[in-house]
Amino acid sequence: MTVTQTSPPIAIDEFRGEVLLPASPGYDTARRIWNGAIDRHPTCIARCTGVADVVAAVRFARENDLEIAVRGGGHNVAGTALCDHGVVIDLSEMRAVSVDPARRTAWVQGGALWGDVDHETQAHGLATTGGIIGHTGVAGLTLGGGIGFLMRKYGLAVDNLLAVEVVTAEGSVVRASADEHPDLFWALRGGGGNFGVVTAFRFSLHPVGPLVMAGPVFWAADDTTDVLRFYRDFAADAPDELGSVVRLGTVPPLPDIPEDLHWRPAIAVACCYAGAIEDGKRAVRDLRRFGTPLVDLLAPSRYAAFQGGMDDTVLHGWHYYWKATNLAGLSDAAIAVIADHAYAARSARSYAAMFHMGGAVARVPYDATAYAGRDVAHNIIIDAVWLPDESGTHGATEPAWARRFLQALEPHRAGVYVNFLDADDRSGRVREAYGDRIYRRLAEVKAAYDPENAFHHNTNIRPVSS
Ligand SMILES: Cc1cc2nc3c(=O)[nH]c(=O)nc-3n(C[C@H](O)[C@H](O)[C@H](O)COP(=O)(O)OP(=O)(O)OC[C@H]3O[C@@H](n4cnc5c(N)ncnc54)[C@H](O)[C@@H]3O)c2cc1C
Repeated sequence: MTVTQTSPPIAIDEFRGEVLLPASPGYDTARRIWNGAIDRHPTCIARCTGVADVVAAVRFARENDLEIAVRGGGHNVAGTALCDHGVVIDLSEMRAVSVDPARRTAWVQGGALWGDVDHETQAHGLATTGGIIGHTGVAGLTLGGGIGFLMRKYGLAVDNLLAVEVVTAEGSVVRASADEHPDLFWALRGGGGNFGVVTAFRFSLHPVGPLVMAGPVFWAADDTTDVLRFYRDFAADAPDELGSVVRLGTVPPLPDIPEDLHWRPAIAVACCYAGAIEDGKRAVRDLRRFGTPLVDLLAPSRYAAFQGGMDDTVLHGWHYYWKATNLAGLSDAAIAVIADHAYAARSARSYAAMFHMGGAVARVPYDATAYAGRDVAHNIIIDAVWLPDESGTHGATEPAWARRFLQALEPHRAGVYVNFLDADDRSGRVREAYGDRIYRRLAEVKAAYDPENAFHHNTNIRPVSS
């Protein structure tokens, strides 16, 4: 296809999708991603319709020595889905999900969102571990590991990966699985977008729902220390079926929550029990009885609806800045730091979220995949959020809050989840995310599949030099 709005025209041989140039209608919309603070101007955005388009776009970029960025769901907080002056290989039109209910597997295209996967798999009463926000991309989330409510029962997203179809830096299409290109398959399960453009993922699925015992319980922020001390023991004793995430910030203005509570500082524990409703009720009973909740929304819920329940609390176009760390445990000292800092942000939209790890995640051997954080108990993300027109008041204060919070957690840190790294972490903290051994092995696979580091708009692994 040739597009001629600018001079010189850009012609991508064998490309059937849309090629958006700066003068094309829709270019400015297409270069927007989830984090509204990211403002980049690619030379062109190649909207792929299928594998052949991805091959054409990769070859075009390589032959013309252009930068390459790959866009899946566009949620990476650092904006790695976009580059300036290069080609964005945009998979946002490739969102098909094809379920094989008899085999309990699904093929998912590289631009799909988790809401697409939950929607299609739940039609068969099935699900796999995915993110906790429906508009997050499957690709970036899975390639970094993939944590979510089902992980303690069914493992990380990468633990459910059976095969991956990839377009390599040379523009070849390869299938990676335990039997085909096993080195590449290992690296793709945690090593991020370093090894090629993934056009499709094959996941294993499990019976989940459609009704599950799920939802958040909120307490006033003043109760944070007590709630976290209780939660530490509650989570440690929880069955694998029970996934939980603690959210510290304000009560979001969701339709199910009484209006007089909206924006009030609060701690919430959101749970999802991947099993029978009655067992789920028993598993969360003590949590619901603890202290004096402001509101308790734990109830039998449709799994897919629960997964999308918080989507409106982190909308596209707002400005975001993240800091994150894994926590070895929740000591009283760590809890004190969290209680001191969690509510010190100025923006009512800023919050911290803490994922309970363990269970099936911890039972996979350390070097079975490239995901390195299997032995940690909790993983906390500090999410500074402000509206675009609040940049004058919050654009500096919110990131400063996140950095202070992380700094205070220093004695309790135990690595970091690669998908939670922001732009200013990418030079120093990539090795922290992987550790030396896994990083070294990733660098060797990188040298085999992308020796010139064509795919570097990501949490980059540098190829080992031969
Ligand atoms: C609101 C929100 C909620 C989140 N919740 C969770 C959660 O519950 N669990 C969790 O684990 N993480 C979560 N994350 C983090 C998430 O895993 C990362 O932001 C991830 O990068 C998102 O992937 P994406 O495809 O949407 O992003 P993108 O920005 O499109 O891509 C991220 C990276 O992956 C690369 N990439 C994208 N698509 C492909 C592809 N098809 N082939 C090769 N490389 C590709 C990109 O080049 C980029 O470097 C969340 C993020 C947000 C913003």
